[in-house]
Amino acid sequence: MDTEGRRRSTNFEDAGSDGGRGNGPGNLPLAALSAVTRTFGLRGVLVLGAVVGAGYLFAPAGVKQLIRGLLSDADGSSNTAPVAGGGTCTASPANARACDFSRVVLASTEDVWTGEFQRGALPSYGRPSGVYRVPTLVVFSRGIATGGCGDASSAAGPFYCPADRKLYVDPTFYEVMARRLRAPGDFAQAYVVAHEVGHHVQNLIGATGIRKPGEDQNQTSVRLELQADCFAGVWGHTARASLAITEGDLREALNAAHAIGDDTLGQSNAAEYTHGTSAQRVRWFRQGFDTGDARRCDTFAAARRQL
Ligand SMILES: [Zn+2]
Repeated sequence: MDTEGRRRSTNFEDAGSDGGRGNGPGNLPLAALSAVTRTFGLRGVLVLGAVVGAGYLFAPAGVKQLIRGLLSDADGSSNTAPVAGGGTCTASPANARACDFSRVVLASTEDVWTGEFQRGALPSYGRPSGVYRVPTLVVFSRGIATGGCGDASSAAGPFYCPADRKLYVDPTFYEVMARRLRAPGDFAQAYVVAHEVGHHVQNLIGATGIRKPGEDQNQTSVRLELQADCFAGVWGHTARASLAITEGDLREALNAAHAIGDDTLGQSNAAEYTHGTSAQRVRWFRQGFDTGDARRCDTFAAARRQL
């Protein structure tokens, strides 16, 4: 993937350290972290596609609306270095690169989804999709006060807040992906951003509030997550030429999708799955990447055995 000379999105905020929250990692509730660890049965590292109603990490207000991102570092410590000068992107060369890269990916998603909304090439959930309204990407370190989804710590991993239509990413997450989840590479990072943008698309088309009769919240969450993966794939397909996306990039994304499957993360009880198995995540990303058609991402129409 080539970022040189590509447009950088201006829908971008650097919230710095503890952006607006006023709490350091010392205030990160350890009980919350252990609850997360229990919930997902993992040691040290969590990777979450997204969770609806992640009440253990966020203030009660807005919890129901919250769709969480991908990963947490749940060993009770913070691997986030203090930020000098208050800017997350200026805290380190690695962060600066990650911020710049994320802005390129975000700009590309703006182009792709603006086009898809203009064509009306989207799954239909009884709501006109209208024009694509772009989300804002907020980078932060340690903690952040969202506009409607409560406070979050970096331990929550990347997430999307439907209430303020913002994506929240701590760039140190990418280091966790590379080192602890063995999902390195810039396109693995692009997948993370594109997946969160996928949750934004879901918010706009009315997929976020869907409840399948007879299915519980976890099962609905899996459908949402797999659709966000598929939407990330649609972005990759459509941006392939403009960003010079290679087969190696595709392998990085598929590797990342595999690394964060519920089963690969150690969840042995299928009833507890919230994001889908590695095989499902890879399959739905590929579905989007191979077809480039978001209408083929209707995980809510699929029978459970077809997910
Ligand atoms: Zn997700």
